[in-house]
Amino acid sequence: MDAIVRFQNVHIDYPLKKYTLHAVSDVSIDIARGKITALVGESGSGKTTLSSALIRCISEPGVIASGEILFCGKDEEPIHVEKLTEKELQSFRWKRVSMVFQAAQSALNPVMTVKEQFLETMEEHGDTSPAAQKENRCKELLEYVKLDPDRILKAYPHELSGGMKQRVMIAFSLLLDPDLIILDEPTTALDVITQSYIFSILKEINREKGISMLIMTHDISIVAKFADYVGVMYGGKLMEFGAVRDVFKKRRHPYTEGLIGATPSIIHDISAIKPIEGTPPDIMNLPEGCVFWPRCVYFEERCRQQEPDTVVYPDGSKCKCLLEGR
Ligand code: ADP
Ligand code: MG
Repeated sequence: MDAIVRFQNVHIDYPLKKYTLHAVSDVSIDIARGKITALVGESGSGKTTLSSALIRCISEPGVIASGEILFCGKDEEPIHVEKLTEKELQSFRWKRVSMVFQAAQSALNPVMTVKEQFLETMEEHGDTSPAAQKENRCKELLEYVKLDPDRILKAYPHELSGGMKQRVMIAFSLLLDPDLIILDEPTTALDVITQSYIFSILKEINREKGISMLIMTHDISIVAKFADYVGVMYGGKLMEFGAVRDVFKKRRHPYTEGLIGATPSIIHDISAIKPIEGTPPDIMNLPEGCVFWPRCVYFEERCRQQEPDTVVYPDGSKCKCLLEGR
């Protein structure tokens, strides 16, 4: 795979007063250039922590404890993101990688029009082009996300629906023409129709502009429909990774199988839906051995004693389970 980003043995900690929380443990994952990669997993599994490390915006007091995060531009030496200085980060963010944070819609300033916010952001990033040129750029970006520029530019955030605000935020993320955009649960607060519409817009931007995307979601059916690759996280670890068709068809990891089995729009017979029993792991108190064993329907005694290695398959997929081939 031609990777634009390589996370290699990444550990991310939140050092708290009395203890240190290991939010991401030893994750190695490649993000494919020009493709859509999704990260799935229950809330608290480390998706936001891992992806925000890519622009070094982990929330306080998070730190990359060890590992490497390589950004591989075309025809250039890989950039070691974990080593960038604050000054280097300023030009790396937005220009190479931009991020639409979770609940980004509420990040719009309520007392400024969309146009004022676009222009302000452009100026902050040193854009000194004439006003008419800037405005044309705004219009172009709003058209990418299927919004009517004449109406939207003069609107205040309260005049827009949730889906429209989210599309404005996506347009924002494209402002400096990044190579990769990260979208953290971009449609969680929206209705199903709007969700699907936004994903089809993202897919179109991905295809037409060749922008790589890393999307966090807990909606497996969206992943099946729109993503090329998928990583499955649990308790801060990467349990499975691969091309969507391989991961969903082969269901190598019992947790992946559980996630798929719990998704109504993939399992067509509603009576066959089975939620994963038990509760997500307490990250401060992870079980010995495989982190998933207490909830695993295939549990064997050895799962409790030994942490599984990550097995890499000929199709390029990876899976962290002792019972592979079960
Ligand atoms: P996800 O995005 O998959 O829901 P997160 O990356 O937000 O997961 O969280 C991973 C773990 O890190 C969780 O246990 C969460 O409580 C913890 N965590 C996230 N942000 C902070 C923070 N700023 N301080 C302390 N712990 C945090
Ligand atoms: Mg999150």
